[in-house]
Amino acid sequence: MRLLITGGAGFIGSHFVRTLLEGGYPGHEETRVTVLDKLTYAGNRGNLPATHPRLEFVRGDICDLPMLLELLPGHDAVVHFAAESHVDRSVASAAEFIRTNVGGTQTLLDACLATGVQQVVHVSTDEVYGSIAEGTWTEDWPLLPNSPYAASKASSDLIARSYWRTHGLHVSITRCSNNYGPYQHPEKLIPLFTTNLLEGLQVPLYGDGRNIREWLHVDDHCRAIELVLTRGRAGEIYNVGGGNELTNLQITERLLKLCGANASMVRRVADRKGHDLRYALDGSKIRAELGYAPRIPIEQGLADTVAWYQDNPGWWKTVKHASDNHGPQGREGITS
Ligand code: NAD
Repeated sequence: MRLLITGGAGFIGSHFVRTLLEGGYPGHEETRVTVLDKLTYAGNRGNLPATHPRLEFVRGDICDLPMLLELLPGHDAVVHFAAESHVDRSVASAAEFIRTNVGGTQTLLDACLATGVQQVVHVSTDEVYGSIAEGTWTEDWPLLPNSPYAASKASSDLIARSYWRTHGLHVSITRCSNNYGPYQHPEKLIPLFTTNLLEGLQVPLYGDGRNIREWLHVDDHCRAIELVLTRGRAGEIYNVGGGNELTNLQITERLLKLCGANASMVRRVADRKGHDLRYALDGSKIRAELGYAPRIPIEQGLADTVAWYQDNPGWWKTVKHASDNHGPQGREGITS
């Protein structure tokens, strides 16, 4: 099998590629991987092996149709991770989100049709559903995205599904909750707070910290994506929840404890505009159809993640202190 992985130098895509190349997905021992990544501020070639006999790396933009038409022939499937992914950046400026997440997805799908690539797994987010006060979202819940990021992802979900319905392309869509784990860019809540605490800096907590998120370890998320790639049905959407809910304040308290800090290291900052209060997914479909359940308990996952940042200062210091890396709100940009 030959896979094209878009955004494979980012946080989740690189985890998927590393795991696959290390033999973490049975049946993929001979799968060859092409990573296509623009290497924006969020992409890092160093997240992937420098060389590997089954890996090819191509720096390029998913909006570049001529390049895609050259690159795609011979690939069996695309796993589409590439996106602008940080909500705060979309609040400050939405243009790049529409260009990449909407236009780029449509261009990629057109290129798949033109080159005979049969299958696409489109990686999306729970944020397309909006915010839910109680209960959980099933896959047929209406889309009510609230941030420009979430709206761009919802648009790309609808476009992706339409290529299945109209053209018969084998498209499956995954919608997961907040991911965490190693190699996550320090603009996102867990790595931002962890690295701030490791540097002896305060952590900026939005508003009253009562926003609720469901946390999913990146390894669990990628295992779900592989299942959808191998056994997911065309035209279907699969929620991938973390199975646990925590307020941002609770996550902050756990990180403080793991880093040996106390509440004096928390600085309250003005809330994000339009900040969704709660996300919660119903994960029963993927459990029933594909036998999937997350495996990594949050206690262990968080401890391992903090330990990874403690052990890899070279990685995050370079990423965090690069000139373009602080996001539109400097170090106050948090959560996914
Ligand atoms: P990321 O920001 O870490 O990585 C995105 C990657 O895409 C980067 O390597 C970047 O260089 C690349 N990229 C951006 N624009 C590109 C373009 N025009 N052409 C080619 N490559 C481009 O994001 P992530 O956290 O790894 O998220 C991956 C996917 O998962 C995204 O689609 C995101 O919407 C989705 N998702 C993420 C989370 C989360 O918690 N991180 C949760 C739900 C869904």
